[in-house]
Amino acid sequence: MKKVFAVLGNPIEHSLSPIMHNSAFEALDMDCTYHAFRVEKNNLEDALQGAKAMGFGGLNLTVPLKETALSFVDADPLAAKIGAINTIDFKDGIKGYNTDGIGAKRTIEDEGVEIKDKNVLILGAGGAARAIAFTFAEAGAMVNIANRTPERAMQLAAEIGDARGYGLDIVDKGLDEIDILINTTTVGLGNSNGTLVSAEQMHSDLAVFDIVYNPLMTKLLQEAETADARPITGIMMLVYQGAEAFRIWTGREPPTEIMKRTVMEALDI
Ligand code: NAP
Repeated sequence: MKKVFAVLGNPIEHSLSPIMHNSAFEALDMDCTYHAFRVEKNNLEDALQGAKAMGFGGLNLTVPLKETALSFVDADPLAAKIGAINTIDFKDGIKGYNTDGIGAKRTIEDEGVEIKDKNVLILGAGGAARAIAFTFAEAGAMVNIANRTPERAMQLAAEIGDARGYGLDIVDKGLDEIDILINTTTVGLGNSNGTLVSAEQMHSDLAVFDIVYNPLMTKLLQEAETADARPITGIMMLVYQGAEAFRIWTGREPPTEIMKRTVMEALDI
């Protein structure tokens, strides 16, 4: 019988996870299928117990369930620190993981950019920022966080310990000491054409990673090109966070190129 996997959340209609994972299952000739289910927070515990009882292989969680899930799963230490779950595995109880930070780390490493001992400036202090900040700190980066609401950046930095939090005005003081700049805010999403950093504020040794992948070349990344810095798009973070979940569930090496192609086609890139 087919093994069932799913993403739960609300809204869920536009999730790319079903086509991405189904393309991976198909490529590896695995008898598995992946669906999307609309689930509200107050039904999450029942949904998790139900999925486990019905023998589901695993789940992804998205907005607004990632934080709520912590109460209902056995969270791995990184996910517990991040405070959000995006992957659930049912092999041994109900285990919760967060693969967003690993997805970002692999994306940057793929570009040949080292993380250990590098100065990283993360713009934003929301869910994705938390995943990246804890993962990069664990990987030996010096983590700086700048957020529109400075208190959130400072709070996150304090939770990490060896990190610093600022308001966005830190960008005006110069990025000379920064090796990797990461935008995790929603600025640049869709048709907004906004950016929190301009070409004049960048230097040519800077790696500029925008986790916003729609559009692929955000205004921030266009500014990076102008500054002769290194632009890195958010598409592979999406693929790698899914690929890590795939690996946790199946123990198989995920076909990341096929997953990437499927997502790019769906986004019409
Ligand atoms: P979130 O928890 O809602 O956090 C949003 C962040 O954006 C907050 O730090 C917020 O600052 C900041 N922000 C919002 N509007 C702003 C503005 N006008 N100016 C400056 N800062 C602003 O969201 P999230 O879950 O972290 O996701 C953030 C983005 O990353 C989304 O676009 C999402 O699609 C993308 N993402 C991509 C991937 C991927 O795989 N590539 C994975 C996860 C997320 P305040 O604290 O001041 O409100």
